[in-house]
Parts: sequence; C-alpha cells; structure tokens
Amino acid sequence: MRYLSTRNDQCRAVDLAAALKAGLAPDGGLFVPAKLPDFPADTFAGTGTLPDTARQLLAPFFADSRLAAALPAICDEALDLPLPLVVFEPQKSWVLELFHGPTAAFKDFAARFLAACMARLRATDDPVQTVLVATSGDTGGAVAAAFHRRPGFRVVILYPDGRVSARQAHQLGAFGDNIHCYKVQGNFDDCQRLVKQALNDPALAERLALTSANSISIGRLLPQISYYAHAVSQLTENSEKAVDVIVPTGNLGNALACILARDMGLPIGEVVLATNANQTLPDYFSGQDYQGRPGIETLANAMDVGDPSNFERLAWFYRDRDLRQAGIQAVSIDDATIRQRIIGTWKKQYMAVCPHTACGLEVLAMRRERGHHGPHLVAATAHPAKFEGVVEPLIGQPVELPPALAELMNRPSRAEALAADYSSLLKRLLELGQSPI
Ligand SMILES: *Cc1c(COP(=O)(O)O)cnc(C)c1O
Repeated sequence: MRYLSTRNDQCRAVDLAAALKAGLAPDGGLFVPAKLPDFPADTFAGTGTLPDTARQLLAPFFADSRLAAALPAICDEALDLPLPLVVFEPQKSWVLELFHGPTAAFKDFAARFLAACMARLRATDDPVQTVLVATSGDTGGAVAAAFHRRPGFRVVILYPDGRVSARQAHQLGAFGDNIHCYKVQGNFDDCQRLVKQALNDPALAERLALTSANSISIGRLLPQISYYAHAVSQLTENSEKAVDVIVPTGNLGNALACILARDMGLPIGEVVLATNANQTLPDYFSGQDYQGRPGIETLANAMDVGDPSNFERLAWFYRDRDLRQAGIQAVSIDDATIRQRIIGTWKKQYMAVCPHTACGLEVLAMRRERGHHGPHLVAATAHPAKFEGVVEPLIGQPVELPPALAELMNRPSRAEALAADYSSLLKRLLELGQSPI
C-alpha cells in the first residue's frame, strides 16, 4: 500500500513506515492510503477477538512496508483490550464501550497501536525520540500510557492549565519516568500552536529527534477501523441488515474510521456524527459551505473543535462523489440537552454515561422518534468516571473509577507550569535533550 497526501497528487507516494515516521506529508497535507481494500460483508462474522479482526483487516494497509511482518504482534500487543457490546434497547441498539483501556477513553486503542508501530520502526542505535503532544484532556493520557517506560522514547505533554478536569490533570502528571508534563498558561490552541512551532523548527530538529502523536497520524486512524468492523460483524451475524452507527465527534478521527469501514464493505448503514454545540459539521451536512471556526467550550470538552482536522481526509476520500449524498449525517447537541440525556439514561437504563456518549445517545433517541427503526450502534467514547464533575451531580451518585484509572489517581502527580511562549518550551526541550531519558 502506498500513501499519498490529501493536498497534492504529485507528492511522492510513500509506504506506511515513512508515513508514520513523518506524521504529516511534506506539503502539509494528511497521509491517505492510495486505495481502500474491499472485504465481503461477512468476512469477520464469527472471528474471535479484536486482534484477530485487525490482523486481517489491516494487512492490506501494511503490505510492502517493513512493518508488514510485525502486524500480528502489533495487533496482539495494542488491541487486546476489552470491547463490550452492551444491549441498550432490546434487539435494536447497542453501546460499543471503547473506554476499557488504561486511560478510560477510546483514544487508548489508537495511541497503543501507534506506539507499538513506532517502537518497531526504531533502530536500537537511534537517538531517543521525543513525542510532543498537545492535549485538551484525553489524548495526552492515552499517548503517555502507550509510551510509558518504552525504551528510546520520551513524551512531552502540554495541556491548558485549569481547562481539563481535575481527574484528567492528575492523570496526566501521574506517569513520571519518561513522561514529562507541562501545564501551559493558556488555552488548548496555545498548546497546539507551541507543538506545531516546535515540530517545524529546523534548528531544534538538529538537536532533538522530535515527533508527534496527534490525531492526524495515519497510525491512529487505522486501528479505529478495526473495532467498527469487529462490532458490526458480531451484530449482523444472524441478520442481513446493516447497522446505523452514531459516533460522538470532534476532530472526526473516530467517525472517519467508521465511514472507512463502511466503504471497505462492512455492514454499516448510515454514519451519524453527534457533535456538541460546535456546529461546523452539522452546518456543512445541512448544505452550507465548510467553514472552520474557533472551538467553543462545552460539557463534552474532548469534542470542542471548530475546525475538525480530519475533514480534509474525509473530503479527499469523497473527492469524486457528493459527500452530502454519502449516508453521513451530523447533529449538534447543546449542553442543556447533554445534561438531560445523562439524567434520562441513568433513570431509564441505570447507565452512567460521559457527556460525549450522551450526545450519541441523544441522537439515537431523536432518530427513534423520527421513525428510524433499524439496528443502531452508539460508540461510547469515555468512561463516565473521567468526567465526574459533570456526571456525578446530575445522577446524584459517585461513579466508581475503573481499576486502571484508580491506580493512576493513587500515584503522586506532577506538572510544571509553562508560559505560553515558544522560547520557554524550547528551553525545556533542550534541557530534556541533555538528560538520559
Ligand atoms: C477525542 C474524543 C472524542 C472525539 O473524537 P474525534 O476522533 O476527535 O472525533 C469524543 N469523545 C471523547 C471522550 C474523546 O476523548
């Protein structure tokens, strides 16, 4: 498989290893596979585990790369996480719980997969690689957990001070060892700007092997395709019907994976993007021109995105077709409705859900009311205990921490304050570069 840039067809196609190492294409575009493989709809019916599905599904994407032989081991190592399909309404709707990894959000699948790939691409005598990541809460933890104590890597996390939940902040600073955590005196956009500036600084590149693990890496998109393929194959085993899938959406990484699973032949019907009050995607799919804008703050803060970076990839895949006629919908859910849905789901199903998942469940309820009676799958993106400040007052109960998260909460946590200017970051990075890990 060759990988192209979304921006320029003339850009030299590269193999997976090169695309993973580079992160972004040289022209600033995102890497995309030249061609999607096709699978008969029942390919994964009855297969055992998620790693089993992923090995077969991802093999074409790894073909001709020096990682190809390692794919089975990468899948076993990275994707061996619990993936419960919970019945939500008898026979008709299911919740796919993607939050049983070490940091209790779906991003664990992708971060672990990317780390497993990068570890295998590294030669033993390569210099230590510094993985620089800006986070609004969940990405940083997932990347830290995936690289924690991995020889040859250190992680530098930048998060906006005071703008992540107390539990998220504790978690980010609790890893220690090769994970370095900075609370930036600014907002998430400042963190992202600092990361971009560092990654584009040729003078720094000479002194430090710097890389990124942000959500536009192709190594994060690929593993996410596999859990949709796996889940819908289990649900459709005894029926012919495709499943409509609802995905809580911010940067459009998770939902794009679902759309690609459908385009590869798997039994998925409509894909519905559930956004929070950030309206960019609902506006686009209701017929307006695409208009990126600053993100606004909501209760579902991991989806506070006004210019989803993976839109460029989605548009590329549909460059010859009308994206608005492609079986994709987008629906925006405001904070008041998120609160009501968290309360309602607790009362009716006795299920505590995070604010992101609540957007998805609200969209499910809307569709049922409008007469969509077919089978539906809703992706549950984070454990409710990660957003206890929102969820617990609404349901009037404490939410028990999953064991991995509880363990992190019991460790001491440390984050250094960092001014939101590049010279401060540069100074820290160069100091780290002098130290052994
Ligand atoms: C990151 C995140 C999302 C948004 O996923 P995208 O791939 O950016 O669309 C939704 N929910 C949670 C809990 C997240 O951490």
